[in-house]
Amino acid sequence: MDLSEITFLTAKKVQTFKKAGINTVEDMLYHYPSRFEDYTITNYCDVEIGKTLTIAGIAQGKATIANVKSNLSVMNFYVDIDGNKIRVTIFNRHFLKSQIFYGKYVRLTGKFDGRLDHFIASEIAFDELSNAINPIFNIKGVDDKKVLEIKERLYYDYSYLLEEDLPDDLLKKYDLIGIKKAVRYINIPESMEETSKAIKRLKFEELLKFELKVKYMLYMRKNAPEGVSIDYDKDKVNNFINSLPYKLTSDQEKCLNDILGDVSSTYKMNRLLQGEVGSGKTVVAAIALYAITTAGYQGAIMVPTEVLAFQHYKTFSDFFANSEIKVALLTSSITGAAKKEILDDLENGNINIVIGTHSLIQKEVFFKKLGLVVTDEEHRFGVRQRVSMVGKGYLIDHLKMSATPIPRTLAISILGDSDISTIKVMPGNRKEVITKYLDYTHLQEVLNFIGGEVKKGRQAYIIAPMIDESDVMELQNAIDVYNRVEKFYDGFCNVGLIHGKLKTEEKDEIMRKFASNEYQILVATSVIEVGVNVINATTIAILDADRFGIAQLHQMRGRVRRSDYQAYCFLLSDSTVETAIKRLKLIEEVGDGFILAEEDLIMRGGGEIFGEKQSGFQTFKLADLLVDKDVLEVANKEAQELIDSGNLFSKEYARLLKLADDNYQSKKEIIE
Ligand code: ADP
Ligand code: MG
Repeated sequence: MDLSEITFLTAKKVQTFKKAGINTVEDMLYHYPSRFEDYTITNYCDVEIGKTLTIAGIAQGKATIANVKSNLSVMNFYVDIDGNKIRVTIFNRHFLKSQIFYGKYVRLTGKFDGRLDHFIASEIAFDELSNAINPIFNIKGVDDKKVLEIKERLYYDYSYLLEEDLPDDLLKKYDLIGIKKAVRYINIPESMEETSKAIKRLKFEELLKFELKVKYMLYMRKNAPEGVSIDYDKDKVNNFINSLPYKLTSDQEKCLNDILGDVSSTYKMNRLLQGEVGSGKTVVAAIALYAITTAGYQGAIMVPTEVLAFQHYKTFSDFFANSEIKVALLTSSITGAAKKEILDDLENGNINIVIGTHSLIQKEVFFKKLGLVVTDEEHRFGVRQRVSMVGKGYLIDHLKMSATPIPRTLAISILGDSDISTIKVMPGNRKEVITKYLDYTHLQEVLNFIGGEVKKGRQAYIIAPMIDESDVMELQNAIDVYNRVEKFYDGFCNVGLIHGKLKTEEKDEIMRKFASNEYQILVATSVIEVGVNVINATTIAILDADRFGIAQLHQMRGRVRRSDYQAYCFLLSDSTVETAIKRLKLIEEVGDGFILAEEDLIMRGGGEIFGEKQSGFQTFKLADLLVDKDVLEVANKEAQELIDSGNLFSKEYARLLKLADDNYQSKKEIIE
């Protein structure tokens, strides 16, 4: 019901509410307070030192006032609380002096200061409360008392509009109050106990609905098959695996089996393959892509940068050097006749596997028979780009790879209905990267250390500081660093410089020289962050490391975690910002990306973990994915049970099912 139909609200009030996004009676009832001020009176026998609380008693005489400074007055008086004489101190309330006299009722909010006979009050009132809890609604232009009054009237007249989405047996199972009570207790609170019950129920409802949507999507994807079942040649795939220069780790094998299971199933694959940088995701993807080619399908890998596209192209060309598989590279710097040839070959099926940047999603790109799309560093693409790549084939299988570990508790909310495979154990005998966080007085030592590594035949990265101001400054900065480093090692070894402003061919040429050890040291801006693979590089020094986030630093450190040599990472920073110091110390101490991801989340809050592009984070009115992890877990289990048991499809659950289903429909439309 629209607010304008409510006769006791003036048109002006209605406008004010509408400005705040509250258009209907339902909106008003479902608009919850942002916090509560609790003035519930604590009995003297229950008080604690140092805790903010409200007490009430009888004044034992007049107050005394001392003016300490022109803007600071101290008022002292005594009250009797349950037979205990308490001294009360309150600042800057001298104007209330006349209100305090023997026998007067006073209500005080504040803290006992170190002892139980001295109370420092921050608020004082003289009325006996009818409502001890003040909900704070934060609606611009209407004060909280007025909002409360309006809500009370609306609730008593229109609470019949509130409909219960949770069936009785769920309410019983989790000891939850009904929706009408919950809406009342949260908007018109009488005790914190009631309010807590309301919050518990409403949070559970939010998270359960969310989990149901996600799980229902997954269920529909698996049980309403729309994808193609690809009947790949198992023997050929096994031969290919046996031809690799190493044996797959058990994690790699397990992940590969998950993926091949999806490939041969009739449902559409939507799987995340996660594993730290260097954990060996690429080869798993290569085997999966090879598998679909054995059944006559084409595959595509989409990566976020040209450097990475080229790197993968090289890796794949090596993998398939002795086979009939044709691999191609398509990026925005491939143009003209070369591009046309690739486009033609994709369309007529001559190319089996194409590797590219977002160029792959252009309208002019057609495949003969696309069977599998792999997106690497998945989180760097916008949602739209991912969707349109998948759109190239009708609901074809989609494998997403990411080196940014996602904390388990949050995986589902970030990834929606993805299945997840994880490579936990690094291949080979990789050692932990020795990480040191140092200030710039140690720069010389670090450069000497790198010199020592170069002498042993190893190579190193030096990452120039990232600068916020502009690309031009950033470049200038990288050039400065390069000049200084070059001078330092003059005559000793060769130093290269790579940055984002270079043309692709130039970048490729520099990477090639670094990979072939013509450059022993590479000065780089953060362009090398993703995917670059030079096994002989064992040291990375990151200048102004405080400028990078945890995930980025860990990714960069991963560059040198690729060989069996002991690797080193130096984080240089003179920052005095507490959070930055904490971050760098954390990286220094912790090597496990999953732990870092959890910590990162706690330090920064979820929305930031993947940067602005993808904070696919769901927001809720009350629930917070970090704070309410436990409730999320329960909701997750319950949602799964409801689907597995089939209860979700019973009449009682029709309302919940409808909510889950609506979302599925809209998501389907986006993908198609
Ligand atoms: P990711 O894509 O996960 O960052 P890569 O696939 O690039 O990792 O693998 C990193 C390095 O590890 C590569 O040089 C690769 O050849 C090597 N590698 C992958 N799997 C294994 C394995 N099972 N045993 C030994 N080395 C491996
Ligand atoms: Mg990779």
